[in-house]
Amino acid sequence: MSAATDAVTEALRDLHSRFAGVDEGEIADYIPQLALADPDAFGLALISMDGHRYSIGDAEVPFTIQSVSKPFVYALALSVLGLDEVSRWVNAEPSGEAFNAISLERGTGRPDNAMVNAGAIVTTALIPDTSRTPRFERILDCLSRFAGRMLDVDEQVYASEAYTGDRNRALAYLIRSTGPLPVDPVAAVETYFRQCSVRVTAMDLAAMAATLAHGGVNPLNGDRVVAESVAAQVLAVMATCGMYDASGDWLLRVGLPAKSGVSGGLIAAGPARFGLATYSPLLDPAGTSVRGHLAIGSLSQRFGLHLMNNPALPGSTVTGVTTAEDLPVEPAGERESARRGRAAIVTAQGALDFTAAERVLHALDEPEPEGTVAVVLDLLRVTDIDTVARAMLRSGLARLAADGRRTAVADPDGRLREPGEDGVAPHCFATLEQAVAWATREPAD
Ligand code: GLU
Repeated sequence: MSAATDAVTEALRDLHSRFAGVDEGEIADYIPQLALADPDAFGLALISMDGHRYSIGDAEVPFTIQSVSKPFVYALALSVLGLDEVSRWVNAEPSGEAFNAISLERGTGRPDNAMVNAGAIVTTALIPDTSRTPRFERILDCLSRFAGRMLDVDEQVYASEAYTGDRNRALAYLIRSTGPLPVDPVAAVETYFRQCSVRVTAMDLAAMAATLAHGGVNPLNGDRVVAESVAAQVLAVMATCGMYDASGDWLLRVGLPAKSGVSGGLIAAGPARFGLATYSPLLDPAGTSVRGHLAIGSLSQRFGLHLMNNPALPGSTVTGVTTAEDLPVEPAGERESARRGRAAIVTAQGALDFTAAERVLHALDEPEPEGTVAVVLDLLRVTDIDTVARAMLRSGLARLAADGRRTAVADPDGRLREPGEDGVAPHCFATLEQAVAWATREPAD
C-alpha cells in the first residue's frame, strides 16, 4: 500500500499505473544513443505556480531535451530581437507536416514555424553570437534559467547527432539558398545539435513549462527569465504548432500548449496554472511519446484543464451591494452622524482584471438604491489590480462623478489614488468607515 499523499500526487500516481503497461510505439533509433533508452522508463512531474513540485516514476531520469528545446530558444530569440524581427525570418503558421519536413513558405522561403526543424534551425541562428557570449552559451544559460538549475550537454548524443545530421544540414542549406538564414548553415546546425543534446529530467521540463505558464517567471526561484509578453507568444505557437502534424487534434482533445521531443520528453503548460512534463521514450508515428500523450490527455480531461474550457474564469468579484446603514460599524463622530443620506457600497474581492473590473463597474452603475446619495467602492478584500482594471475603475469612477454621483473608495493601499490619464483621481480612504463618512457628509454650500 502506498503512503497517503496529496491529491495531485495521487492523480499522477493513478496515471502512471494506468499507462505504464502500454507498450505501443517505437524508440527513436536514428542515432544509437537514443535507441539505448529504457522502453519502460516512465516519469511524470507537475509544478504549480507557487513552485510546489509533484512527481511520480522516473521524473529524475536524465535524457536529452531534443525538440522540447525549440520553444525555449524561440523565447530567447523573441526576447533578444522582438516578435516583428523574429517573424521576418520565421513564420508562425502550423505546417501540418512532420518535424523534419521542408516546410518553407512559397515565395519567401521562410520556415512555417519555430517548432519544426527548419524554423528551429533559423531561430537558433538568430541568437546573437559574440566573442564574449558565444551563441550556444546564451542558449544553455537560457535553458538553465527556465529549468532553475545549471544544465549540461550529453556529449555522446551530440557527437552522433552531428554525425548523422545530414537531413538537418540539407534543410539549413536549402533555407539559405532561398533566402532566410542569417548565418553559415553549418554553424547554425551545429549549435542546433548541441541544443538538442542538453540533458534534462521530467522535473526540469516541468519547471521550464511552469515558467512559461507563470508569465516568464520561474516559480521555483522567482527568476524572471523572459517577459510576460514573450511567454504568451511562445505558448501561442506551442498551442498551434507544438505537436507538428498532430497539433490541431491535440489542441482539440487535450487543449494545452505543448511540445514533444524525439527522446520521449513531452511538456504541456496550463497558463497561470501549472507546468507538466512526462518522460517515456516509446513514440507514436508523429514523434510524440505514447504514454505521455495518454497521461496528459487524461489529466486534462479529469481536471477540466482544456484551454477553451472557461479560461481563468474568476470567482465572484462583487460580493455585495449594501447601504451604509447595514454596516455593523457606524461612522464615528457627531458630524458624520449628521450626514444627510446613505451610501450604496459595492464590495469587491480577489484579483481584478478586465473581466472582474467590468463586473465592478456594472455594479457601480446600478441605479442608486432609494435614499442613498453616494456610492462607495470597497476594495479592502481585493488582492491585486492589474493596470487594465486600474484604468477601467479610475475612468468609471470619474464618469460617475461627472454624472453628479458622489463616489469614494475604501482603498487602504492607495491603488487607485494616482490620477488617471485625464488627471482625475478618485477619493480614496484607508477605511470603509472614512470612505462612507466622506461620501455621505453634508456638502459645504
Ligand atoms: N534532434 C532531432 C532532430 O532535429 C530532434 C527532433 C525531435 O525531437 O522531434 O532531428
